[in-house]
Amino acid sequence: MTNNKIIEKAIKLCTEKMGDYEPDEIHWIEIKYLDISIDYGEYRCSECAEKRKSELEIKYKSELEKDPDSSIEVFECYSQEREGPASCEDCDVMLNYFLCDVEDELKHYEDHGIDLNNQEDCFSFLALLECYTYMEHMNYESDKRIVKLAKSILEAK
Ligand SMILES: [Zn+2]
Repeated sequence: MTNNKIIEKAIKLCTEKMGDYEPDEIHWIEIKYLDISIDYGEYRCSECAEKRKSELEIKYKSELEKDPDSSIEVFECYSQEREGPASCEDCDVMLNYFLCDVEDELKHYEDHGIDLNNQEDCFSFLALLECYTYMEHMNYESDKRIVKLAKSILEAK
């Protein structure tokens, strides 16, 4: 079997195992015209982001009322490029992302294996498999490692 065929089969298997699972998009809170500091690096699922927004609105009610231009908003980001999976700051659920570097994920799966009965695992392994074909800066060494992992899930089936 050629490497491309192995990757293709592994993608098919992962997609089947993943079923209708689809992670929530990355959300974050943005503060407008209010002098409060929050960590913009914090990502949340839609539910937790809305909850956090409400908490902040209650906490800073008087400040918000002082300036009609001020607000606390939730933003959604589609498929952010990342070096590894993103998860919600509050409930830890996995969020949607696009893998732009494979090293951390390769290491993770080489160390821990892939659990195809876990939909989050299927999703993040798919993100890695897709890098095999889509990434231009991919080098031969990481290609080989992805193929090896892909083989391992086909053999375990
Ligand atoms: Zn959450």
